Amino acid sequence: MIRIALPNKGRLAEGAREILERAGLEFDMAHERSLQASLGGEFEALFVRADDIPEFVADGAADVGITGRDLVEECGRELRVLLDLGFGRCRLAVAAREDDGIDAVAAIPAGTRVATAFPRLARRYFEAAGCDVVIVPVSGAAEVAPHLGVADIIVDLVSTGSTLKTNGLREVATVLESSALLVSRPAILDDPLAGRKVRELTVALESVVRAEGKRYLMANVRKDALATVKEILPGISGPTIVDVLDHGDWVAAHAVVDRRELYRVIAELKAIGATGILVTKIERLMP
Ligand code: AMP
Repeated sequence: MIRIALPNKGRLAEGAREILERAGLEFDMAHERSLQASLGGEFEALFVRADDIPEFVADGAADVGITGRDLVEECGRELRVLLDLGFGRCRLAVAAREDDGIDAVAAIPAGTRVATAFPRLARRYFEAAGCDVVIVPVSGAAEVAPHLGVADIIVDLVSTGSTLKTNGLREVATVLESSALLVSRPAILDDPLAGRKVRELTVALESVVRAEGKRYLMANVRKDALATVKEILPGISGPTIVDVLDHGDWVAAHAVVDRRELYRVIAELKAIGATGILVTKIERLMP
């Protein structure tokens, strides 16, 4: 049985659970707070702290895992990144006090103390930038360190920036862009049976990630407008055209549309007189 390590709580827990369920893998838990669960009869889920997942996978306590890129890179162990799952987006950023006047990494003076829960990534970043700083490792809530006088600046995770603002801090530079990843220990892909199962899992999750950015659009259009419809709806392989029973010169055009294109596409279809426009979510998409 392939073991998959999943965040037991925190920001990544729900996203991990949701994406596996959308890929068609059902959790079968003895009770709500179980530390283990059967997953679709194919995998055994282990619920652990997101921070521990890179180590657990690298050590072989689990075969694959879902956790943040920040944690994978901070851990520094050799892991294979199978897929970027697209949720849990945030950035690891350098932030300084608003009243410090530091607006770029180049303006950070030698000897500056940096509070961070990511000492390895912070050290690597400042070394590459040629900045001579002192790393002060903390286990969390780095944003209070400059006010307590234990550090001058911080390297911490940011998504909206509101926590920084509340603490009178200003973002100076980005160390790393992060999101949730599916990772494995490298050797597992060489195992014929386990490797196949891990690849199947990757393909299934990839189809969910791909579908997330797309919508399925249907519209009734006039046959004589089809050349324009084709220009409006490029689709993966052009729109599918379906006859509409007893509807004369009208046909239905179906296409997979990029979510970000939807607004433009609908406006353009309306402009050529399309009717009955319908947009639906796609569960999974395998081209
Ligand atoms: P947890 O500490 O269990 O809530 O998980 C923290 C992980 O969630 C981080 O390591 C990141 O990968 C991810 N994450 C996403 N957005 C944020 C954010 N705004 N602040 C902290 N962590 C975030």
